[in-house]
Amino acid sequence: MKTGAASNSVVLYWHRTDLRLHDSPALHAALALNPSVFIPIWTWDQHYVYKARVGPNRWKFLLECQSDLSRAYTKLNPKQKLHVVREGPQTILPKLWEHWGVTHLVFEKDTDAYARDRDNEVMRLAQKAGVEVIVKLGRTLFDPDEIVRKNNGKPTMSITQLEKAAVKINNGNPEKPLDPPKSIPDPWDDERMDLSNLKRDSIDSQPDLNVEHRTKKDEQYSDLMGPTRDFAVPWQDIGIDLSQAKTPHRGGEQEALRILGECIKNEDYIGRFEKPNTSPADFEPQSTTLLSPHLHFGSLSVRKFWWDVQGVMEKQRKAKKPVSTVPTNLPGQLLFRDMYFAAQAPLGHSFSHTYGNEVARFIDWHLQTNPPNQDGYIDGSYDVDSQEAEEWFQRWKDGRTGFPWIDALMRQLRQEGWIHHLGRHSVACFLTRGGCYVSWERGAEVFEELLIDRESSSSKQFRRELTKGW
Ligand SMILES: Cc1cc2nc3c(=O)[nH]c(=O)nc-3n(C[C@H](O)[C@H](O)[C@H](O)COP(=O)(O)OP(=O)(O)OC[C@H]3O[C@@H](n4cnc5c(N)ncnc54)[C@H](O)[C@@H]3O)c2cc1C
Repeated sequence: MKTGAASNSVVLYWHRTDLRLHDSPALHAALALNPSVFIPIWTWDQHYVYKARVGPNRWKFLLECQSDLSRAYTKLNPKQKLHVVREGPQTILPKLWEHWGVTHLVFEKDTDAYARDRDNEVMRLAQKAGVEVIVKLGRTLFDPDEIVRKNNGKPTMSITQLEKAAVKINNGNPEKPLDPPKSIPDPWDDERMDLSNLKRDSIDSQPDLNVEHRTKKDEQYSDLMGPTRDFAVPWQDIGIDLSQAKTPHRGGEQEALRILGECIKNEDYIGRFEKPNTSPADFEPQSTTLLSPHLHFGSLSVRKFWWDVQGVMEKQRKAKKPVSTVPTNLPGQLLFRDMYFAAQAPLGHSFSHTYGNEVARFIDWHLQTNPPNQDGYIDGSYDVDSQEAEEWFQRWKDGRTGFPWIDALMRQLRQEGWIHHLGRHSVACFLTRGGCYVSWERGAEVFEELLIDRESSSSKQFRRELTKGW
């Protein structure tokens, strides 16, 4: 990182999949510009608010991550915080560039389907406005697009394909983690930061896929800076009663680093970890790391996770202690995560449905998602082709199947927002080929709503594992 006199750059740092300060290549690049003004923001995007299924547990986890990050900024510089701006990025960013005189926009690369469309549009607008854009990888061990290129332009459909492709990138070694910043430059003064005179674009809130959770008045878009006009994290006004969030799992970078630190201290656990030997019936502690929600929100760097684990494994090897191997060990689990990212990256929106998806095997299960509507858009609606299947689906969703193992897992999922991998297998299998013959798409939607670690790439394991193909 450069030191010395500040440049004339005004840097807008756009947090999305990286709610952390440690090991953030994008943040590192932003600060290396030596900005005279640095403004970290989060855009409260109506796409995720209304068009993605999110239950109270995941909302709370997100808000905890944002609050923790905001506090971390303030700790480094009392004038700083995470500035949550209440509008979608495609409309708000051009207004912010002009209002704040932004010279650079910096963010972490995101290869999810909606994110790609959004970022392409934002980059087009930035080019038009003469704002320089810097994008850095940080969400995965390897760049999913690069993995696809090394896999002959194809999505990675097996861990072997992923491993072979990864070996062609730096011999299978992810970049080493970067230190967190020691200082953060100031934003503009309060007067210049104020957005009161900015025109507000209208917010499309219909259909609201989260309407059933919105038991309070939805006021999240009443002001660009929030109701207290200070860019605060929206704890009060999203219309969702957060006392409904019963999860014991806490969000935030500090919590993520604490959990990782605890795991790493247990060298025998790290060295011997083999996923098939872990159990969904283990509690206090659970038998896996439970770090997936932190990887999802970026409150933990996946590269730090990888290299901290590698450090312990190396030590165990030197001490001639048993060390488990890929893919069942912890590095293997992180490679699986990369495999799903590189499976989704080239397929985009079609990865989420059976229809039009070149890698999904069609099976004539009940309650399939309807094909595209007149606008060419797959809206997630489905026809009830069997009343019995619909009833079974609803009972599965509520944990009322009468099968104690399935019901316990589905209730844990609703209450806590996380279940063990083999539990996910069990309930997914039960809904599909195991008994109800209901489409994986219905189950994936329930997971989308209830999981705090919901990843659009990994959640397609509903399909992969259960159709005995993709
Ligand atoms: C039907 C189904 C749906 C799933 N949906 C998701 C999802 O939406 N989000 C998600 O993160 N994982 C998903 N998984 C994968 C896996 O179950 C979870 O990542 C894991 O249970 C998280 O717990 P952990 O952090 O304790 O994992 P650990 O065993 O401690 O593994 C460490 C990390 O490796 C990654 N990982 C482990 N297993 C997998 C896997 N099979 N695929 C991808 N990454 C993995 C996770 O990031 C995890 O945090 C799904 C699995 C199934 C069968």
